[in-house]
Amino acid sequence: MNTDVLIIGAGAAGLMAARELAVKGKKVIVLEAQDRIGGRIHTIYENGKVIELGAEFVHGDLPVTLNLLKESGIKYHSASASMWRYDNGKFTTTEVFIDHWDEFIDKLNKLEQDTSIHDFIETEFPGDKYIELRESVRQFVSGYDTANPKNASSFALRKEWQSEDENAQHRIEGGYIKLLSYLATECEANGGQMKLNSAVKDIYWEPGKVSAIAVDGITYHAERAIIAIPLGVLQTDAVTKGTIVFHPLVKEQQDAIHQMGFGAVIKILIDFNEAFWENVQTDDGKSLRDMGYLFSQEEIPTWWSQFPERSTVFTGWVGGPDAWAKKDATDDELLAESLQSIANIFKKDIDELQSQIRSWHVINWTSRPFIQGSYAYDTVEAPFARKTLNTSVNDTVFFAGEYLYEGPAMGTVEAALTSGKNVAEKIR
Ligand SMILES: Cc1cc2nc3c(=O)[nH]c(=O)nc-3n(C[C@H](O)[C@H](O)[C@H](O)COP(=O)(O)OP(=O)(O)OC[C@H]3O[C@@H](n4cnc5c(N)ncnc54)[C@H](O)[C@@H]3O)c2cc1C
Repeated sequence: MNTDVLIIGAGAAGLMAARELAVKGKKVIVLEAQDRIGGRIHTIYENGKVIELGAEFVHGDLPVTLNLLKESGIKYHSASASMWRYDNGKFTTTEVFIDHWDEFIDKLNKLEQDTSIHDFIETEFPGDKYIELRESVRQFVSGYDTANPKNASSFALRKEWQSEDENAQHRIEGGYIKLLSYLATECEANGGQMKLNSAVKDIYWEPGKVSAIAVDGITYHAERAIIAIPLGVLQTDAVTKGTIVFHPLVKEQQDAIHQMGFGAVIKILIDFNEAFWENVQTDDGKSLRDMGYLFSQEEIPTWWSQFPERSTVFTGWVGGPDAWAKKDATDDELLAESLQSIANIFKKDIDELQSQIRSWHVINWTSRPFIQGSYAYDTVEAPFARKTLNTSVNDTVFFAGEYLYEGPAMGTVEAALTSGKNVAEKIR
């Protein structure tokens, strides 16, 4: 089968590139390994509710995402909500960060030579005085960025923290997948083709010519290919997990791929018969009725509600090294840990909680074939590696994905859409 451009991977980056190129008049074929588009965007509908198994929030007023929402007429609403902590048996509405945070940011802003955030904080904030600060930074980097603090770049985190606007979080009405379905429809309306269940295992290339062989044995030919599969897949060498073998090898790019960081995450969604947390009163008489996010020290530490929407869905999250350590746990084990964590926080009987479950989902993204993790984070070497990967191989093989984005919203859908848009602009 012949086309102008082959796009491997129908996530946000691949579909954005496909839409842009199809609109420009290029013939495109998108080859997707799974039986659905979306990749790390995976919306399902259950009990009349939108359930986001993957990406859920628009983290800020992010230009490419918001423009696309406007263009497609898809509505979104604020997801900003109060943050709570549960520590040592007490709920508090403090900021996520604690004592010495300003001192920490001040020193971080003055840092001249990049180093891992772990090394930075151990060197600059040693001793008992800063125990809580160190633990909070570790929790934030592994929880939010799903990164390993021992590898994560201090410069990149500084950039992210400087530009973050906690007040501007949004959810897309009807779910994130609406945005990707819009891109896929636009692509097809302009002559593009989508092939699902078409995992690519080999790419043969020479300047101006690419052949991609899918697992079903079909070979696709094109002048150029965009590889829009996750960094985690590119980092594995197992074809069963989705990786692609290049012939000849693209050595420089492969080295760069291994210099970048890819995180780990497990997301748990439990739909209970009632939103029991809404009825909880804290010791100092405050109500958790409008609670958005809850951070704790439990095995599954982070939880959130669907506030401002009144919903019975409670979402759990564990990221970074702790999620990596649970990569081989079964869904039942992870559900049990989730219920234990909720039971500890809300002083509930675990059997009673179990009996209140209407439906549940555990998505261990790190063990999923064709995904292999959460999203990218910057290592100290990442800026150089990204430059290599953002340069085409002989104007023939291109890479795209959230990990190739240069801006502050790293690891997001915005990052993936931007990368897809940028790569499409490079193809004439
Ligand atoms: C649990 C979770 C929660 C998240 N929450 C948010 C959030 O709230 N907000 C936010 O902005 N971002 C969030 N993210 C990050 C966001 O989802 C990603 O950054 C973004 O969707 C990545 O898009 P992508 O196109 O780069 O990759 P992907 O979406 O992973 O797409 C890559 C595609 O390539 C396919 N593929 C893999 N191997 C092959 C192969 N060999 N042949 C063919 N196809 C292949 C995969 O099946 C996949 O469909 C979250 C991610 C996770 C995992």
